[in-house]
Order: sequence, then structure tokens, then C-alpha cells
Amino acid sequence: MSSRDEAAALGLSDILQAAMADRAEPFEPIALAGGGQAIDRGPGLIELVPDRPRPGAAASVLSAGIHGNETAPLELLLGLADALDARRLQVGAPTLLIIGHPAAIVAGTRYIDTNLNRLFTHEPAASGLPGQEYARAEALMATVDAFWGQHGTPASAADQAATPLHLDLHTAIRASRYPRFAVEPFADLATPQPVWRAIVGAGLQAVLSQHAPSPTFSHYSRAQHGVVAFTLELGRVAAFGDNDLAALRPMADWLAARVEGRPAHEADPNGLAFFRVASELRRVSDDFELGFAEDVANFTPFAVGTVIARDGEAGETVVAEAPVYVVFPNARVERGARAALLARPVAAPALTSA
Ligand SMILES: [Zn+2]
Repeated sequence: MSSRDEAAALGLSDILQAAMADRAEPFEPIALAGGGQAIDRGPGLIELVPDRPRPGAAASVLSAGIHGNETAPLELLLGLADALDARRLQVGAPTLLIIGHPAAIVAGTRYIDTNLNRLFTHEPAASGLPGQEYARAEALMATVDAFWGQHGTPASAADQAATPLHLDLHTAIRASRYPRFAVEPFADLATPQPVWRAIVGAGLQAVLSQHAPSPTFSHYSRAQHGVVAFTLELGRVAAFGDNDLAALRPMADWLAARVEGRPAHEADPNGLAFFRVASELRRVSDDFELGFAEDVANFTPFAVGTVIARDGEAGETVVAEAPVYVVFPNARVERGARAALLARPVAAPALTSA
């Protein structure tokens, strides 16, 4: 095989695998098997450009590996790449594929120096600091700025395929009473009802709406660009090859539909359990402990009167007024940081606003 043939044989799957191995190299635009092009936007940043965009189809950002040890989302993106290389899928809408944190993926760890998914902000305190996650966050924000600057049309109230979306794909550290759930960032932008219907259709079981801004990647797209965006928790952390991809089949179908620019399978949003964050539990002092086992499942409820934390300075935190559902508990955060989200069930927002 000549080097020219080898270059011609470079597939999207090869490019994603090199990025996940932290060995991304610059590449010239490549023609995809089923039409359209893949364009290099930097290491782990690949824009898919359709030859013939499907009429009305809106763009997507599909990001994975923001936490390096969360491999199921990476396998989902590899599945898309394989389907595009094999012509089983055709690009019908602009799509930005993001391999979030290659160095952490290679290390098999959540992060190297600090949690990347707390750095998506232009606050001066978060930029220019040492640590590779700061530089990566800057690069990711600049890339989505350019992408949404070109493709961020307003959401459609009537058609999910006509609504630009950023889906930031994760898996959770612990078990969950709802293994697959969406975190809806806080922003002055309602999620259109057809998108809720697609979320149920993709096999998600619950939604946790944030009560305040937080510097996550999905919040950045929503707050900075007015794009409907979610952090999706898709089961539990596992090694490459150990993920239950059968349970994620409907999710894979949604991602494929986004790339093709067509509406995905929809289902009744009454099938989703909706929660809203009521408050954050914070660790104030070094003398801090949770009032429950560290490995409690996400969305475990605690009754009124339960002591859910003891802190040397802040004292006891006791559940008042109504039961709370604990999400993302972690006692070993630094002082001042969030040790858990405390949520309560709410009515489905979409059913009243459509
Ligand atoms: Zn994560």
C-alpha cells in the first residue's frame, strides 16, 4: 500500500482513536464514506460537515471524555464513527465531536490536576492558572464559541431535529436509582417539549434541573450561546469494553439521529421523573462527615428529621419540611466545595409549556 493509499484510508474511527490515545495529529479534511467531510478543529475536536444538509436540521455538539475514566460515552462516539466510515450513517447536520480530556483518558482517571467540568467559565479566577485542565477548558470553549457562532440557530418549539443541542455525555461514579439521567443546567432558556420527548425516547429515566449556574460544559453552551444543552449520566463508570452498551442502544440511536439531522424516536415525557435541586450541601470545615454511607445510590430519599451531615463549624444539617433526594454525594471534597446536591421531585415542566 502506498502512503497515498494509507492517507486515503484514514477513517473517522482512526482519528477518534488517536485522539483518545492522546496522539492526535493535524489532518487535512477527509471525505466521509457516505458523503460529507470531517474537519480538524484541534486535538480531539472534529467537525462533521454535510454535503447536503437535511432541510431544517440543526447542529449538535456531542462531547465525551470530559472525565477521563468515563468510557461508555467514548464507545458511543466510536460507534458513530464506525457507522459513518461504513456508510451506515450519513452526515445530515453540522456536528462537532469532542474527545474532552485525552490525557486523563490515557491515565484512566477522572482528571489529572483538577476537575475539568468545573472550569467552563471566563471568570478571571479560572483562567491562566497552571494545570492542564485550564488550558483544555479554554480550547474547548473557543471551539464551541466558533461552532455555535456559525450554527447556533434558535431552538424550535415544534421540532427536536430543528433544535441545536449540546449533549455532554458522562457516566456516574456511584449507583443510581435512575441509572440514566439528564442534568439540566440553570439558564434562562426553557427546554422545548419535543426535546423532552427525545430524552425519554433515548432511554433516560430522570431529569435533575439545576437551581443555580455552575461552570460545567453543558451550562456553558446554554448560558453563553442559548443552546439547549444537557449533562447526560449514562450508567456507571466502567473500563473500556465493560460497558453495558445494550442499555445505551436507544441513546446511540438518538446520537445517530442528531448526526443525520432527523428527528429521533420520541416517547411520553410522563415517563421521566423530574427533580429540581433545592440546595447544595457544602463542606465547611475539615471536621465533616455525611450522615449516610458514602456509597449510597444517587436519588436516595431521606425523610424529614434525618441528619444528613455533621460539620465541625456548620453543625448538623437536618432534613426539614419535606424529604430530600441526595445526588452526587462526596464527603472528600475540599473545604468550601459541594458535598452533595439535595433535590426534590417537581412536576414535569414541559407538559405545561408546550
Ligand atoms: Zn463525568
